[in-house]
Amino acid sequence: VTQSLKEKHVAVLAFPFGSHDLTILGLACKLARAAPNVQFSFFTIPKSNHSKFSTFKFDVPNNIRTYDVEDGVPVNHVFSGNPVERLDLFLKATPGNFQKGLDAAVMETGRKVNCLVTDMFLTFAADMAEDMKATWIPLCVSIPHNLSAHVYTDLIRRLFSHVGGDKNGGQHQTLELIPGLSPMHVKDLSDEILPRHSNETFFSYTLSKIGCVLPRSTAIVMNFCQELYPTPLFDDLKSMFPAFLNVGFLTQELPPSPLPPSDSDTTGCLSWLDKQSSKSVVYISFGTAAAPPGEELKALAEAIEESDIPFIWSLNNDHKHHLPNGFPQRTNKQGKLVPWAPQAMVLGHASTGVFVTHCGANSVFESIANGVPMICRPMFGDHWMIGRVVEEIWGVGVKVEGLVFTKSGVLESLKLVLGHEQGRQMRERIKALRELVLKAAAPSGSASQDFKTLVETILNS
Ligand code: UDP
Repeated sequence: VTQSLKEKHVAVLAFPFGSHDLTILGLACKLARAAPNVQFSFFTIPKSNHSKFSTFKFDVPNNIRTYDVEDGVPVNHVFSGNPVERLDLFLKATPGNFQKGLDAAVMETGRKVNCLVTDMFLTFAADMAEDMKATWIPLCVSIPHNLSAHVYTDLIRRLFSHVGGDKNGGQHQTLELIPGLSPMHVKDLSDEILPRHSNETFFSYTLSKIGCVLPRSTAIVMNFCQELYPTPLFDDLKSMFPAFLNVGFLTQELPPSPLPPSDSDTTGCLSWLDKQSSKSVVYISFGTAAAPPGEELKALAEAIEESDIPFIWSLNNDHKHHLPNGFPQRTNKQGKLVPWAPQAMVLGHASTGVFVTHCGANSVFESIANGVPMICRPMFGDHWMIGRVVEEIWGVGVKVEGLVFTKSGVLESLKLVLGHEQGRQMRERIKALRELVLKAAAPSGSASQDFKTLVETILNS
């Protein structure tokens, strides 16, 4: 018996690390607005639920209820310092922790769940959806090149496992056997896709299942636009799944909404930007999870100070001690050091000229949507692939020399992007990408059409 619209219940399951949770909450909000009669339940760990509503001040429609699930960290657990440990503990607690939350939501709403929208990293969801006789719609938050590397993980491991950590040899081989990935090098692959060390993490093991479970989904949602694909990659991915929906960037309104009055921004970034000249400011941020090593932060700060270029730097207080002595005081006229910036608005301000980024997918997408070229310092996961796309395929940024911040390398990149003919060309190219993205997001554009298909798929599930 099909449920009537009023009884439909969509469960949205987040992968609560980095900005994955932020991205899927963005999707949930968009869906809940488009389908106001459908009940949505959003599940993530308490820390992530808390930050979404305190830091990001998400305006959540009232047909979404949020639920906490256990993070899998044993009481009194002492962390080893390995950043993947939290992810492993969390994944080992799945699917039980989510199941508990789902049972509570079904009880509370009196509606059976008929559709699971999940991060694609939650590979258990294929079985969970089958058991519940629900449809499964996974979301990929990264660039499609990364999805492709996940889908072809078995092949990649067969071909390149012997390369191991050999930075000089096989790491420079390219992935031309895979449609659309010919510009990528083996060294661009994350440790999760190609483990270089003998101990595979549970995280990596979980991700290695992506290729075999995704074809069981009803539709795949991409945080991306069809217009930005190289053809072989789009055709290849599309041929693999029942529906492949590129709904546009999920953390960024398209077109970007006009900036609010600057004095409403409590971080002071917008009012400060108002006083700077057009495209003169460097914005620095490494997202929600990444941090360069201390000596690199120091080198970056030294370069910024020497350049005298106005800056906004979003730097978590935990990392401030790496800055050169007296840096905040000496540069308090030159720039603004904040623990958190309203990034999409900073990038949308006319004074912002360049973005120093770790190449997180959302950061890069927000930069494109606002036409700001980038200086890239990839750190983990999908960052190297994204950095290569930014620099070599789209030509809208540069990677820092040697992929680490040195004072001279940063100074050179700043000069190139802000002052050089090459920088001007990057601005032209990113403007063209921005146009493509805006066109896709217009009512008759591909992203809007794919989003409509997604809503219909959910309503018919
Ligand atoms: N962000 C922000 N202010 C900051 C730093 C980050 O609003 O000071 C937001 C940024 O706009 C983006 C997200 O946090 O939407 C970071 O996502 P990304 O995919 O770039 O990186 P991750 O955090 O997943 O590594």
